[in-house]
Amino acid sequence: MTGPKPRPEIMAIHAYVAGEGKIAGVNRVIKLSSNEGAFGPPPRAQAAYAAVAAEQHRYPDGGSSELRRAIGTRFGLDPERIVCGTGSDELIGHLCHCYGGPGTDIIMSMHGFTMYQIAGTYAGSRVLKVPERDLTVNVDALLGAVTDATTLLFLANPNNPTGTLLPQSEVERLRAGLPGHVLLVLDAAYAEYVDDPDYDAGARLVDQGENTVMLRTFSKVFGLGGMRVGWAYAPAPVVDVLNRVRGVFNVNLAAQAAALAALAEPGWIEKSRAHNTEWRGRLGAALEAAGIGVHPSHGNFFLADFDTPARAAAADAFLKSRGLIVRAVAGYGLPHCLRITIGTAEECTLVADALTTFMDQQHNVAANDA
Ligand SMILES: *Cc1c(COP(=O)(O)O)cnc(C)c1O
Repeated sequence: MTGPKPRPEIMAIHAYVAGEGKIAGVNRVIKLSSNEGAFGPPPRAQAAYAAVAAEQHRYPDGGSSELRRAIGTRFGLDPERIVCGTGSDELIGHLCHCYGGPGTDIIMSMHGFTMYQIAGTYAGSRVLKVPERDLTVNVDALLGAVTDATTLLFLANPNNPTGTLLPQSEVERLRAGLPGHVLLVLDAAYAEYVDDPDYDAGARLVDQGENTVMLRTFSKVFGLGGMRVGWAYAPAPVVDVLNRVRGVFNVNLAAQAAALAALAEPGWIEKSRAHNTEWRGRLGAALEAAGIGVHPSHGNFFLADFDTPARAAAADAFLKSRGLIVRAVAGYGLPHCLRITIGTAEECTLVADALTTFMDQQHNVAANDA
């Protein structure tokens, strides 16, 4: 064979497996596999998307200027220090390519978001996964992994798929313990769902130096995952770097319009957060009552622990038989768990009822075997 060959490290990448959305033979499925937000896209975003239909021949504003201004106003940030991307995934990729590369190490936590590993390996870096404590990021272990070769450290806070939150004091201790040349990327995809009053999504640390970046997304609380819009808030030199390499027209016309309108939807974040907090409590309690281990979550999803891979697989199949799709997380090294998005009240009730029935059946089987 003498065909074209990719760089060898490319073949070490396992392609990202997105949450499933279909079950063969089932018409109405309830998709709780991708943390997409409980309420669909905001009405104003839907209207704005429809309204730009006749403008599709126009290139978008390559700098996403109006969107950056609106983000800045909404979150109290300087628009000049914001870079929009085709989802935050695009920005993760650029950061890895710009600051990583052959001969460098990128550090992430053991159960951190898979995109860091994919993008870091693609860039040619070695990606180190650092052990956790109780599925929570271990700052000492992260700091212990740092060497002169380390250029980037990715931290999702809250983390996906565990839902765990690293306290603000620990995030600050991490930054303080990192050498100045290490770029700390705080991925706050689930920031809007956090209730902890001490939580800061990252802007404070970004403002304190030249080596911290915050990533945010319109894919979760704003319900625009299909539009692909994310953004970075970064020190000026990092903004300059990202603007050199990003797609010139990376955020398309409809995506910019929809995101802009989503920001203007009255009460959207407040409503979403209140719903999520309520059902995080109710669904979590229902799963625990059914005998399923749940890790305390700070996002819009639960990591449910079924003790064994076989039982997690059986629960997944049982849910599918009822049209409920959740996320298998074996690829994250958690084959005994399933990740379940907090959906509408009806969806949460359906999941809770199904898993209660499932666990009852498991106990009956166990009792009959005894
Ligand atoms: C969903 C998610 C993202 C967002 O990705 P987009 O590309 O903006 O859709 C980023 N980081 C984490 C941890 C996520 O869970």
